[in-house]
Amino acid sequence: MAAGIINGKELSTQLKERMKKDVTQLLGNNIVPHLTVILVGNNPASRSYVNGKKRASEEVGISSEIIELPDTIDTDELLEVIHKLNQNDAVHGILVQLPLPDHINDQHIIEAIHPSKDVDGFHPINIGKMMTGQDTFLPCTPYGIITMLAETGIEISGKHAVIIGRSNIVGKPVGQLLLNENATVTYCHSRTKDLKSVTRLADILIVAIGKPNIIDKDYMKEGTVVIDVGINRLDDGTLTGDVDFESALEKASYITPVPRGVGPMTITMLLHNTIKAAKGLMK
Ligand code: NDP
Repeated sequence: MAAGIINGKELSTQLKERMKKDVTQLLGNNIVPHLTVILVGNNPASRSYVNGKKRASEEVGISSEIIELPDTIDTDELLEVIHKLNQNDAVHGILVQLPLPDHINDQHIIEAIHPSKDVDGFHPINIGKMMTGQDTFLPCTPYGIITMLAETGIEISGKHAVIIGRSNIVGKPVGQLLLNENATVTYCHSRTKDLKSVTRLADILIVAIGKPNIIDKDYMKEGTVVIDVGINRLDDGTLTGDVDFESALEKASYITPVPRGVGPMTITMLLHNTIKAAKGLMK
């Protein structure tokens, strides 16, 4: 049976159409949803992500600005910028593009963002709420993955989800969200022994490693739903995921491509969170 290809780009377009209606409603109530993105330094990948976020915001009518700061900024100066944004009622969402320069502690900065404006969903208070199943801003990539599965009509409850990767921004939270949806969850990482024997048990396999094409059909059983989170730029400039797409197609029931898979969903969920913040739902 041919695998279904989950097109994150198309799905994002549909979700953004729905969001435009929410934005129109907010504007009718004199609320202009606003996202402020802070970019420190001149990392080309970060700059491209930040520009993508601004473009997508504008598409749905969210006002957005990028505050560009030099990589010589110190922690106190950056904290001061965040404190001002926390106090500004016209700013609904604050996002600090990671990674920050080495001399600044990412965690320290994330914790300075007021939880009611933490549209990335990285603040420990919001993570705690997610862990305990409370309403909160869900981290965008994991939220995008869950939304993709739901919109594609893929049942999660009772399924065995295996996640390769345990980062704070992808692996750990996606496992938690799948658990909240009643999946049986197994985490794998670089110290997992005999990875294949674990991943072959997966009904849903989430791959978030950051190494091009390292997971192929040998890691899957017949009919696995494969979600490829990886974004890897090859020497020739092309983007590829962590999954060997052509090989995985032979066994997967559904699979996400790279590009046009999880990536567009991540930005879309950021817009969703910004609208949620503008509605004042998290105050
Ligand atoms: P991290 O580097 O923080 O985490 C990678 C994880 O993979 C770690 O848990 C690591 O294990 C594990 N790992 C590394 N090598 C192996 C291996 N050979 N076998 C099994 N596990 C392994 O990455 P992120 O979670 O931040 O990102 C993962 C990928 O997803 C990257 O390509 C990134 O670009 C992409 N990404 C995509 C997004 C999107 O919107 N689509 C958003 C965010 C990230 P250990 O913990 O033991 O070191």
